[in-house]
Amino acid sequence: MDFSLTPEERQIRDTVRAFIEKEVMPLEPEVLRNEREGRPGLEPDILRDLRAKARKSGFWGINTPEEYGGAALGPIMSAIIAMEIGRTFVPFSFGGSADNILYAGTEEQQQRYLLPTIEGERRSCFAITEPGAGSDARNIRTKAVRDGSEWVISGEKTFITGGNEADFVMVFAVAEEHGVTCFLVDREMGWKSEPIPTMGQWGPASLVFEDVRVPEENILGELGKGFELAMQWIGQGRYMIPARAIGSAERMVQMAIDYAKIRKSMGQTISNYQAIQWMIADSQVEIEAAKWLTLYAAWRVGQGLDARHASSIAKLNGAVMANQVVDRVLQIHGGMGYTKELPIERWYRELRLLRIFEGTDEIQRRTIARNLIKGHARLGLIGE
Ligand SMILES: Cc1cc2nc3c(=O)[nH]c(=O)nc-3n(C[C@H](O)[C@H](O)[C@H](O)COP(=O)(O)OP(=O)(O)OC[C@H]3O[C@@H](n4cnc5c(N)ncnc54)[C@H](O)[C@@H]3O)c2cc1C
Repeated sequence: MDFSLTPEERQIRDTVRAFIEKEVMPLEPEVLRNEREGRPGLEPDILRDLRAKARKSGFWGINTPEEYGGAALGPIMSAIIAMEIGRTFVPFSFGGSADNILYAGTEEQQQRYLLPTIEGERRSCFAITEPGAGSDARNIRTKAVRDGSEWVISGEKTFITGGNEADFVMVFAVAEEHGVTCFLVDREMGWKSEPIPTMGQWGPASLVFEDVRVPEENILGELGKGFELAMQWIGQGRYMIPARAIGSAERMVQMAIDYAKIRKSMGQTISNYQAIQWMIADSQVEIEAAKWLTLYAAWRVGQGLDARHASSIAKLNGAVMANQVVDRVLQIHGGMGYTKELPIERWYRELRLLRIFEGTDEIQRRTIARNLIKGHARLGLIGE
């Protein structure tokens, strides 16, 4: 069992770390200022420039196949890079990626949707959740009714990330007797969006479809096979959620250590108190556990093994860990932790989402338990 990174992998990690520290972290005060004044944290132009700069250093399409112009660094490096990006709260990600299910498109769909998304010319969103169907995604009610060579879509989607900015949506609807089907629907075809204010900064949107006409050739994948595509989309990077949180948690614990070393109470720095030390120690233990569970899930994906069980474990553990760590870090900072002068309260609000989206804690537990009870996964196995 080899836990070391190759020299090349280490170099990639160090280059990303340097890029984040030099180019992205300096934007943090601006992001806080903008958000406090009700503006988006990062202007789209600044994000575009940052991505262009990263592209020049070779960071483009981290996990995108080479034939599509990507770096194809694989799941483990993608997770490690996400950990590095997670060290900053600036809403940044490298460009050059597209939703995995767009690769299932026909040649023409790839030209119209996949390639412009990779290039950053078009923005996508993924819409399955509805007001009446979240965890119970099989219960969606959005309808698609055939009319000649078109499908007419009606229904409402909710909590759609990027839904207010997207140029097109991958929307899941029940296509008559065929069942759930995925349609690629341009905004110009007539769907409307409305932002949903949330406690965090990744504001989703509700989408309304009122008799939106979509040509037959805009079905992504096969008629009636949409649910499989949706699960493939959700499964693509479940390990990426805890990966990013690990970077945030490490950065915050470092902030807590630095603060504990200078903050005095009752004649001593608070780092001398066992109560504070234990919070720091417990945080590192949980971060390390999350790191290895996450890398194991990424490794399974890279090996082409079934990674669903490992990804559920990693996602559940990472989401809970991040919320425990941010709470402790806020506690160590006392009243200062609660203010908007420091970014801790921002992380506190943002990380709360991790326990909800892409499968709540309860749904991950349900998946893990059912896999074990039904024998899809077994206890006590190593390396299989
Ligand atoms: C900021 C944000 C961004 C999102 N982005 C997207 C997106 O891009 N695209 C998209 O399609 N969706 C998106 N979602 C939706 C998200 O995936 C759902 O919110 C999530 O799956 C939970 O569904 P729900 O909100 O309807 O909660 P519900 O399913 O109503 O759950 C309510 C509570 O009941 C629990 N529960 C439900 N069923 C069970 C069960 N069987 N056993 C035990 N407990 C259960 C849940 O765990 C939860 O605690 C986003 C949500 C948010 C908040």
